[in-house]
Parts: sequence; structure tokens; C-alpha cells
Amino acid sequence: MNKKIVEFVRDIYQTKEFIPLHAPTFVGNELDYVSQTINSTFVSSVGKFVDDFEHKIEKYTETSKAVATVNGTAALHTALYMAGVERGDLVITQALTFVATCNALYHMGAEPIFVDVSKISLGLCPKATEEYLAEHAELREDGCYHKGTNQRIRAVVPMHTFGHPVELDELLDVCMKWQLMLVEDAAESLGSFYKGKHTGTLGEFGAVSFNGNKIITTGGGGMVLCRNERDGKHAKHVTTTAKISHPYEFFHDEAGFNYRLPNLNAALGCAQMEMLPSFLKQKRALAQQYREFFQGSEFTFVSQPQYAQSNYWLNSVICPDSETREVLIKETNTQNVMTRPVWKLMHRLPMFEKAPRGDLSVSKWLETNLVNLPSSPVDLSK
Ligand SMILES: *Cc1c(COP(=O)(O)O)cnc(C)c1O
Repeated sequence: MNKKIVEFVRDIYQTKEFIPLHAPTFVGNELDYVSQTINSTFVSSVGKFVDDFEHKIEKYTETSKAVATVNGTAALHTALYMAGVERGDLVITQALTFVATCNALYHMGAEPIFVDVSKISLGLCPKATEEYLAEHAELREDGCYHKGTNQRIRAVVPMHTFGHPVELDELLDVCMKWQLMLVEDAAESLGSFYKGKHTGTLGEFGAVSFNGNKIITTGGGGMVLCRNERDGKHAKHVTTTAKISHPYEFFHDEAGFNYRLPNLNAALGCAQMEMLPSFLKQKRALAQQYREFFQGSEFTFVSQPQYAQSNYWLNSVICPDSETREVLIKETNTQNVMTRPVWKLMHRLPMFEKAPRGDLSVSKWLETNLVNLPSSPVDLSK
């Protein structure tokens, strides 16, 4: 079977060379727009591409305000800050995620609570979240508290794993009931929709990443999606050193961040946004090929949840057991076809091993049995 997988992937990408998990594609106006920033000398914090890029994302995601940042982690940090997360707070998230989700919390002085993921979405499970809260939390006059530690539980941060949207309506219900802010880690899910709405726009705030391995890239970059205009203005203000506009004086009314995306990177982003629809089409067609290939085998291809339209950022299969998984990873990588296990669960990392957590059985099953497959956009009509 592993030999067949290698042959299948090589046939898709039409190459005998190394096949990466996800490579960026530059076939549009990338060089033109980036050259414009260099020719004009406006490569840094001033220039039209940052505004253009923000407007493009606002239009595409139908969000009130999008704020460009230097990377996805900075976008997440800003989103959590805007959501009112404070030192000493607890924040519910999934153990099955990229470490950046937890790093952003950690550096704000907050701590994660790890809750299991759903088999349907591979992202934060609303039922497991409700169960955890019912057992460990209580509502007081000013909000939700952890009964065991007496710490404030401030927010819920689901992550749309590999671009598959989590069950947002159910999570919103849980957040409403327990008075928690919903902040979506939509780093992997640009182009993914939940019941017709773009991921990252249902919570109060969302964070997108444009790292080199994401569906579109700005080299490094991110975007904060803000549900309301006023928060959006404030988010822009704090990410740009919170300076009060004045011809020559330096007055800053809040401890801000220097998280502004340079114009150079935004130029790349504008060109990549023009390509997003074609990337999505190609990636969905690729997912369909994988689905058909694995049909009837012992491997289960991970399809989008029924309620969602997924960007299929990373394709994945679930192996029948962990030994099969280890062999698959070894044999494909030996053949220069890159495959990867999912991240080690967050509570296994030294800095998060003491974090409170619920039952994590689905997360553990995915940790040992899931494999990511090469997923770069490719034109299959050729
Ligand atoms: C990529 C990613 C991030 C962080 O994005 P950067 O741009 O690399 O900082 C955060 N969360 C998840 C789940 C990611 O996949």
C-alpha cells in the first residue's frame, strides 16, 4: 500500500524529485507588486498594499475590520488581548494544535486548559468543552471561574485543524452559557466556511496566518479579524504602537505592540489573494483524488464536516493503528515524499505539562494514527 501511495502522489505532482507537504505557489502578480514596493522605496510601515490587503481580506471574509500583523502568532496575541485575556486567566483550547496557539496565551501570563477535539472536525469539541465546564467551572457575578484553582476562565480558543471548521454554533452556545469570549485560531483556515460564513468571523475575534506553508503566504504575516468596527479600530491602534496621530509629537495612550505588517509583505499578500480562488479549487480537486484513492482501504481520508466548506489546507488520513502509521511515514519519507504525523499534544510539552485538562482520548487517537499528506496546490487538469 505504501508503495502505491508514493506512486499515486508522484503521479499527481508529476515529478521524481522531493515532494514537500506544502509549498508556496507564485504564478500571479507577486513579482510585480513586490517590485512596486522596492521601486517606490515604500517597503516598510507606510504604503498602499497594507490597506489593500486588509480590504481584500475584509471583503473575502465579510468581516468588519481586518488588521494585518507580522505573523499569525502576533495576530492571535492581539486577538486574545482584545478579548480581554489577562495575566492569571485560564483559556480553554485544544491539546491537538500547533504550539503557537498556546505560546500566545503563555506570553500573556494566561494558562491553557486542554479539552478534547471532535471526531467530526478534529478541532475543539463543544460537548467536551461543556462537560469540562459543568464539572470544573462556576458562574459568579462577574463571570466564569475554575472551582479548583479559583482562576478566571476568560475565553475559548478553537482551532480549525488543517482547515476543517469546528462546530461553531454549538461552541457559541457554550460560550454564551458560561460567559466566555470566543476567539478563533483560524491560522490554517483561510478559504474555509462554516455554514456559509468564513471561519474566524463567528467569534469576537479570529486570527489568520500567512506563513510560508499556509494556503496563501506573505513570507510571514497574519491578520486579526474583528467582528465589530470599533474593536477593529482599537486592534489597529494597539498593533501600531498605540500612537495618537499628530504631525510631529509622540504620544502613545496605551502599551502597544509593533505588530504591523510591512508593505513589502502585504504586496505579496495582495497578489496571493488574487490566486486564492484557484488554489482553493485545486486543493479541493486534490482532496477528491485522495478520497477516491483511499476509498475502501484500511485508511480513512479526513473529509470536511457536513456543515462546512473546507479549504483542505493539509490533507490527512487516519491509519488503522499506530504501527501502520509509523511504517507509512517512514516509507514515504524514505522515498522523498514528505508525510508528517500531527503535532505532539500540547500537554506533553514541558511548559504545558501542568495545565488542567479534560479527557483527551480523541486527541490521543489522532496523535498516534493520523498522517498528513502532500497538499500543495496542483493543476490536475493538465
Ligand atoms: C501557523 C499557525 C499559527 C501561527 O502562525 P505563524 O504565522 O506561523 O505565527 C498559529 N496557530 C496554528 C494552528 C497554526 O497552524
